[in-house]
Amino acid sequence: MLDKTLLVDIKRNALDDGPGIRTLVFFKGCPLSCVWCQNPEAISPFKEISFNRNSCSECETCLSVCNQDAIDFSYEYRINRSKCNLCGKCIEVCPNSALKFVGQEYSIKDLLEIILKDKIFYKNSGGGVTFSGGEPLYHIDYMKALVKELKKEEINVCIETCGYYNRNKFYKFILPHIDLIYFDLKIYEPELHAKYCKVSNERILANFEDVIKNKSIEIVPRIPLIPNITDTDDNLSKLANYLKTLNIRRIILLPYNPLWVSKPAMIGIKPSYNYSEWIDIKNKERIKSIFSDLEFNDF
Ligand code: SF4
Ligand code: SF4
Repeated sequence: MLDKTLLVDIKRNALDDGPGIRTLVFFKGCPLSCVWCQNPEAISPFKEISFNRNSCSECETCLSVCNQDAIDFSYEYRINRSKCNLCGKCIEVCPNSALKFVGQEYSIKDLLEIILKDKIFYKNSGGGVTFSGGEPLYHIDYMKALVKELKKEEINVCIETCGYYNRNKFYKFILPHIDLIYFDLKIYEPELHAKYCKVSNERILANFEDVIKNKSIEIVPRIPLIPNITDTDDNLSKLANYLKTLNIRRIILLPYNPLWVSKPAMIGIKPSYNYSEWIDIKNKERIKSIFSDLEFNDF
């Protein structure tokens, strides 16, 4: 059993990502690397340092404490990550909190303690905990003890997954202890999936079909609507037909949120996809008509 793992964030009192009042837990590390990832800081399974240019007053205090020569004011991402040893001295002295670590280690005991603080609210609202990421099932060896404890406490558990997980371990250690899965389906064609998400979708679709057949808990497919990548007529029609052949009735459509575009620079990454518009009415109507045979959320 793995007792500790890295999390990017924990949000209490959330009203989305599942029914009722929930605690959302964001794991660090994902086997996919989608070009539009809204949480790029959750892709790497390692601790990172982030720099927020908007909070920086250019006081140069950080520069004076860095003995790795990793801070460079002429460099667009400010920190040379190949030199930085994550000592954290710059973070400690920054007066504006412009520098931060991304990824904090949590033991199962500590995380359980945080989740259980809101038990009464979950009970009264029909809520619980949602594991998100990153990819929670990338951390199965940590998750297995956690979900078992939560089941004992009768807490509703939802997992948001990209579907790229080890099926044997998932059935053995996770599925018996959870209540709901939000299963992301992004791109139907394997080559396009590999191009935009950096892995083929064969394992994802096989896992999806298998868990759907299993029918032991509720599984809701989610489709992110990424302009010119996932939201094309061709891709959405293929996904709609695929879901119909599996007798799926309900899906969640996730409209594109352009607010993520400033995030990659904060961790020193140049994004290969950059689209800054919100979805418009015409596109909404087009997409709704493709899924008219299915039940979905308004968006
Ligand atoms: S974490 Fe340490 S090594 Fe990295 S930039 Fe800050 S002071 Fe330098
Ligand atoms: S210490 Fe903080 S505010 Fe000052 S220059 Fe460094 S990052 Fe910017």
